[in-house]
Amino acid sequence: MNLLRRHPIALALLALLLVSALQPLPALLDAVTGTVPAGADLVRPASYTVLAPLSNVLDAVTFLSLTRARAFLVVWVIGLVAWGALRRGTLGQRLRRAVVGPLGIVLVGVAAVLLPRPVPSLIASDSTVTVLDYHAHTAASHDGRPGWQVENLAAWHAAQGFQASYVTDHNVIFDRAVDARIRLLPGVEWSVYAQHIVALGAVAPIDRRVFNRDTRALLGLFAELHRQGALGLASLPEYWTNHWDDLDAFVAAGVDGFEIVNCAPKAIGFPASLRARVLQLAAQHDLLVVGASDNHGWGKVTCVWNLSSPSAHGYAANHVIARPIALAQGDWEPWTAAYTQPWLMLRSLSWSERSSWITWILVILIYRAVPRRAGDARGIGILARSLQVFKVRPPQS
Ligand SMILES: [Zn+2]
Repeated sequence: MNLLRRHPIALALLALLLVSALQPLPALLDAVTGTVPAGADLVRPASYTVLAPLSNVLDAVTFLSLTRARAFLVVWVIGLVAWGALRRGTLGQRLRRAVVGPLGIVLVGVAAVLLPRPVPSLIASDSTVTVLDYHAHTAASHDGRPGWQVENLAAWHAAQGFQASYVTDHNVIFDRAVDARIRLLPGVEWSVYAQHIVALGAVAPIDRRVFNRDTRALLGLFAELHRQGALGLASLPEYWTNHWDDLDAFVAAGVDGFEIVNCAPKAIGFPASLRARVLQLAAQHDLLVVGASDNHGWGKVTCVWNLSSPSAHGYAANHVIARPIALAQGDWEPWTAAYTQPWLMLRSLSWSERSSWITWILVILIYRAVPRRAGDARGIGILARSLQVFKVRPPQS
């Protein structure tokens, strides 16, 4: 107990790990029904669970919407600067602490984008469905990660349980056969009049100027795609931010479906109330609703998968399976991100992840609590010695 009193942060974290378990969130949700999907499991590799504190934090940071990421950064940086500067110590120590804390937050952000690490994978129980991504990019896109080739994209997908993905670069058609770890399907993401249209299938080049004049001209693209034998889906965030009042016109013009979840930071904050409106429209007209990783080579985890049934059509053809923390991005005010994101993360933990967190906290507590011998540096030797403290002494004979 004395140990815990001297380490209030560890104590608070342990308490939060237990309290958050009283309001658990499932690993996955069906984005249409809001229920736990029967046919899909999120499988975490052992290395992911062993490193749970790192894995979970980097996932949670990846799933921040853009506005929430900004608020998260500002609040944590100000908080850590203040905490570092106000703690007792010499001026030098306080200055150092005031810099190290915020630097740590920035490093976490960079790690979320770039650090190679184990990732969770979706496993579907029904072998007739395909685990599919409808929308992903390579270095052929102006905002794609440099060097991010189709093989990298396929490996990124394969690690997370995808069996196939459309490759939809910005205004650059993908239609080659590639020997990759998953099936890569032909497509493109056309930018026309402040709207992105994900075109799937046998796409052919178009003159974008024809469709770029106004909304009426843009709507003509759906008929053109149908002439080519391709499908056209309205992408997030553009139909939400730029064409929200045109959705009925999209339907009348032949849009084949809508993205209802998109993991890009600009799109992940699509609010549940608006998603419900799109679902109503899609159900009424038997249109496809899909999830999109919209991966550009940045970030290691997807927030959404699709279970696609070849036997079904339209609204029933696809099930959108998402991480609850991603679906919640649009439901919380941005300024709350500094505490709601950690809280959503903690509520989402499985019991094995929770155990991993608790183990790490206890190991660090023991490491810090056992007094060092004079002149000893901190090191793994101290940890090994300190574990002796907890050994039960054999009975004396
Ligand atoms: Zn995109």
